[in-house]
Amino acid sequence: MEKIYMIPVNDAYAADCDCPLCFLYNKAETNELDYYLGPSLMEPDNRKLTNRTGFCPEHWGKLNRREANRLGLGLMLHTHLKDVNEDISRSIESAIPGKASLFKGRSGDYKSKLNEAADKIDARIGLCPICDKINTSMGHYLGVITYMFKHDSEFRDKFINARSHCLPHTAMLLREAAKLSQNDAADFVSALYENDKKYFEPLINDVEWFTLKFDYRNNDKPWGNSKNALQRSMRFLAADRSDFDEKQSPNKK
Ligand SMILES: [Zn+2]
Ligand SMILES: [Zn+2]
Repeated sequence: MEKIYMIPVNDAYAADCDCPLCFLYNKAETNELDYYLGPSLMEPDNRKLTNRTGFCPEHWGKLNRREANRLGLGLMLHTHLKDVNEDISRSIESAIPGKASLFKGRSGDYKSKLNEAADKIDARIGLCPICDKINTSMGHYLGVITYMFKHDSEFRDKFINARSHCLPHTAMLLREAAKLSQNDAADFVSALYENDKKYFEPLINDVEWFTLKFDYRNNDKPWGNSKNALQRSMRFLAADRSDFDEKQSPNKK
C-alpha cells in the first residue's frame, strides 16, 4: 500500500468539508492547474503532450479563470490550435459530399464520412491531461480508503463520522468495494450506507424548509441548516464544484 497517499486521505477526513473525496479532488485539481500554468510550460515533453491534447471544457475554464501566466497559455494555445487545425480541417474538407447529378449517382457514403469527421473532432476535444492525472490520483486514494478502513481503527472512525460522501463519490467507493472480499465489502458498505443515510434525509428536510421560508408566515422563524441547502444539495448530487459555492449564489439569504 502506497504510504504517500495515506497522508492526504487522512487530512481530507480531518478537514471541515461535506465530502472528503471532493476535498481530495479539489486539492489534486488545484495542484494540476498550478502545474499546467507553471512548470509544465517549461518542460518540452509536457508541452508536446498539451500541444496535442489541450484540455477538457471544464479545465479550459479553470485555466482561464486563474488569470495567471497568460503568455504561457497563449503560446500553448497557439501550437495546440495549429495541431488541431491540421488534423480537423483536412478531415472536414475530405468529408464534403460531392453533388449528385444525372451522370453521377447518389451515394450513401457521404453520411459515414460526415460522422467520421464529427467523431474526429469529438476525439480531439475530449482529451485532458489534468483529468487523467486527477483520475489516477483518485484511484490511489480509493484504494487507500478501503485499505485503511480495514487496517486502521482510527481511520475507520473518521470514515464513519465523515459529514457525508457526495453521490458521485459514493458510486466510486461502491466500485472500489466491489474489489474487496465479501466480508470486507459488507463492513465497508454498511458504514458507507449509514454515513450517507444520516446526511441524505436531513438534507431533503433542509431543502423543504428553505422553500417554506418563502412563506411570509415563516419569516421570523429560524433558518436552521437551510440557508445553504440548495448549494449543499447540488454538491451532494454532483460533487463539489466552484459553481456550487455559496459565494457564487445570487440568493445568499
Ligand atoms: Zn464528493
Ligand atoms: Zn479535464
